[in-house]
Amino acid sequence: MNFEEHAGKAVLRGAGLPVPQGRVCHSPEEAAETARAIGPVVVKAQVPTGKRGKSGGVKLVDTPEAAADAARAILGMDINGHKVGKVLVEEKAGIAREFYAAVLLDTANRSPLVLFSTEGGMEIEEVAASRPDALKRLNVDSTKGFSEADAKALIQGLDLGDAADQVAAMLAGLYKVWEQRDAELVEVNPLALLSDGRVVALDCKLTVDDSSLYRQTDIAPQGAEEPMTALEKRGKDAGLKYIELDGNVGVLANGAGLTMTTMDVIQRFGGRPANFLEIGGEAYTKGTEALSLVLSNPGVKALVVNFCGAFARTDVMAQGVINAWKELKPTLPVFFSIHGTGEEEAIRLVRQELGIEPFDLMEDAVRHAVEAAQ
Ligand code: GDP
Ligand code: MN
Repeated sequence: MNFEEHAGKAVLRGAGLPVPQGRVCHSPEEAAETARAIGPVVVKAQVPTGKRGKSGGVKLVDTPEAAADAARAILGMDINGHKVGKVLVEEKAGIAREFYAAVLLDTANRSPLVLFSTEGGMEIEEVAASRPDALKRLNVDSTKGFSEADAKALIQGLDLGDAADQVAAMLAGLYKVWEQRDAELVEVNPLALLSDGRVVALDCKLTVDDSSLYRQTDIAPQGAEEPMTALEKRGKDAGLKYIELDGNVGVLANGAGLTMTTMDVIQRFGGRPANFLEIGGEAYTKGTEALSLVLSNPGVKALVVNFCGAFARTDVMAQGVINAWKELKPTLPVFFSIHGTGEEEAIRLVRQELGIEPFDLMEDAVRHAVEAAQ
């Protein structure tokens, strides 16, 4: 789940980290009122996406009237497909330097990764590509954590002057937030050194692991739901994890692992999967809805059905798909591969009920589907 800047900053504030004071506003009048109370402010679009600065979604103003004008201009804007419904009105900070700080899950190294750069404000990917030495990285042993002393060691020699201690405290604090909030990402860009010497988080991007929301109940309501397509909503309502993709080969497999393997093999043969769909072993009870979802994607030109049975029986899954097939009567080409518990009966059923010969190898089923979809 993504948290917009204001919600992310509230989490940082709750952890004792310095963020500017401000208020979420839904109208120009509210923005003016807030500016009257605070003084010069920055008015920022609140949408779960970055690059708002470049899109005109961040405006610095000095008077309540100008704050109202800025809010009027930003509210209703479309930024990366997100319609702006609220703005964050915050005290305007006098920026001396912009840094970059982040803690994220480094899946390749199976550990948290702390990032820091003195080249903040801009795209960190550009910094990483053009000046890799300007980006400090540290993979953290999560059993030991990341202390302020560790942070000091990481930023040593970076010429941060008097700000070094505050930066170190911020980095250690961000790590704590990352850990305690089950975050996938906490990113502060820019982490600003103000002209008065304070170091504050001027922006915040927070992503929390969806699987942990049940124990992040105090902040979960402030999160922004990931935008879903109509088909994805339908899948969710049916209790299925469906993700719509832009390929042309539909995938129906039991289990997330086998589904992703099938997607990889589709790509291996030069094709593009049209969906991810997790049906687990419930192909029998949810077969019709699952098949209907996969086929409702207008991009689908061929279908791979890949079953591998262990505890879940493939003959039961096959029967579920056959029932669904007879109900929906699709006309597109379908290619089966069935292995594991119940496979003999499953293969016999598909042959007899659908007149289709399953492939012995998954590769063959996938290759034929990729070709048929072209
Ligand atoms: P993003 O573009 O969506 O990442 O939005 P940011 O919150 O990072 O804002 C973009 C840029 O606006 C920052 O890099 C700053 O340069 C500038 N900015 C944001 N807040 C302030 C502020 O309070 N004072 C000043 N002077 N600039 C700000
Ligand atoms: Mn930013």
